[in-house]
Amino acid sequence: MKGRPVRARARALHPDGTPCLDGTRRVPRGFTPCCAAFDRLTRNCVYDLRVEWWGRHRRWFVRLPAPTATTGLEVRFCPHCGARLGAR
Ligand SMILES: [Zn+2]
Repeated sequence: MKGRPVRARARALHPDGTPCLDGTRRVPRGFTPCCAAFDRLTRNCVYDLRVEWWGRHRRWFVRLPAPTATTGLEVRFCPHCGARLGAR
């Protein structure tokens, strides 16, 4: 069958076996992003620049690619517009 290939986002795996998180996000309930660029960061894959809300810490983190553990670097301000990042 001919046609353009469709990317299977949700189930895609990286070569190291970890799931691709592109299109998924971890944000606070009812979250409104400060700007469109930050909104995109929350939906990126870990091999791009991906920002997640970690509810247990109640803080935002840049998620680092690591197959065996969830690691990240805390961010307090939006790298695009400079807004202070909070729980909403
Ligand atoms: Zn922003």
